[in-house]
Amino acid sequence: MEFCEFELDEKLLRAVADLEYKKPTKVQESVIPEALDGRDILAESPTGTGKTAAYILPALQHLIDFPSKKLGLARVLVLVPTRELALQVAEQARLLGKYMPGLSAGTLIGGVDHEEQLPVLTGKTDIVIATPGRLIEYLRKEMFDIRAVEILVLDEADRMLDMGFIDNVREISRAAYRRDQTFLFSATLEGGILTKFANTVLKEPVEFHVDSPRSEHKKINQYNYHADSLEHKIQLLEALLRDKSVEKALVFVKTREGLQNLVSRLDRDGFSFSYLRGEMDQEKRLEGLRRFADSTVRILIATDVAARGIDITDITHVINFDLPRTADVYVHRIGRTARAGRKGTAINLVEAHDVPMLEKVQRYTGESQDTRVIEGLRPRNKTPEFSKKKRKSRDDGNPGKKAGAKGGISGEKPERKPHTKDRLRDKKNKGKPDFAAKRAKKALRSQESDKIAESGAAD
Ligand code: AMP
Repeated sequence: MEFCEFELDEKLLRAVADLEYKKPTKVQESVIPEALDGRDILAESPTGTGKTAAYILPALQHLIDFPSKKLGLARVLVLVPTRELALQVAEQARLLGKYMPGLSAGTLIGGVDHEEQLPVLTGKTDIVIATPGRLIEYLRKEMFDIRAVEILVLDEADRMLDMGFIDNVREISRAAYRRDQTFLFSATLEGGILTKFANTVLKEPVEFHVDSPRSEHKKINQYNYHADSLEHKIQLLEALLRDKSVEKALVFVKTREGLQNLVSRLDRDGFSFSYLRGEMDQEKRLEGLRRFADSTVRILIATDVAARGIDITDITHVINFDLPRTADVYVHRIGRTARAGRKGTAINLVEAHDVPMLEKVQRYTGESQDTRVIEGLRPRNKTPEFSKKKRKSRDDGNPGKKAGAKGGISGEKPERKPHTKDRLRDKKNKGKPDFAAKRAKKALRSQESDKIAESGAAD
């Protein structure tokens, strides 16, 4: 499929061409026609799959189709879990809307002075990208007028829920009750809370399961290096970071203290790197990210919280200095590499106590990692065995194989849930979205919002 097959304005197609997007990604192919058709969207799609353009393009088309005659209140509101992601989404909106005269996109995010955000609060901003905590603050103080929002996007909804934003997002969704459309994107749709939540904010959504994490990281090579101790792990990491083939590495550490220790050690050993941790001054964070993004340094060390939303396309290696607490975080982490069609490598530094977690990851992803060693840094301890109970079930009918041996868990791949096929809701209309219903709805909304604008002007 080609971008020109969508009912997108020529201004948007030109911007897409400038960005050198040759073909729509799967999520774009699925979501864009339905979104243009006025449908609510529920999409399981992790970062790195092109999901941002999948919702920004229909939102921009909507702004082109229904130009506003009013005060300049926000008409598209995108909620994201982190400030970095907010900045990246705003940048993509500007790039994709570059040929739309007068289009403005702005962010309302934590860690930034209120004064800096005044232009977004008081000026004309068509698309606002916000983190829930900061937006709620402005809503409650009546500093942000949400009444004209027509499209609400919840991006990385699973992360927002994980981070405890569920009540804020609910409140924002209620406040934006006049909207026409809602899009919810999530790396995973597993979990009762998310499904329940999606039911409360979406109306008869079209549901897509595209580019699931399992298939998405196929182009990522994954390796384990076993370590006898923390000191051994640090030596392995340093050896890997010295390797020239590791061109750009994102190193994950589980805790802030762990990060601090590693930072001191790498600093002492002469490495040049940036690091990100939660509760860091925004300017310092952005500076650290910038140095990594523009390759001033080739190593970025971060905790999970601090690394959320990072979208740097040329990360060649994700190194799990510590394994994460859950398997889906693992998938998120390694999804930072192999972006935009590139190849990537994920490396796990594994101590004996990490083995159960690694096993969970392998069950969740249905993939195993090859075990590698570095000469001079071979582990002295035997490679830890995987849990007997689970190994037994995997080894059933396959007695010759031994889990945890070189080559990762080498048993049968675990059973997976059937993969829902990509589908367009109405195949016969594929490529020919019917705008009639949407336009009729918009005409009604337009009359309504004229009234809002009048009352807003009178306030
Ligand atoms: P996202 O999943 O939205 O974070 O996008 C991941 C990366 O893919 C971003 O750097 C986008 O600029 C890029 N991208 C989005 N759509 C396409 C496309 N159709 N072709 C190539 N790259 C794309």
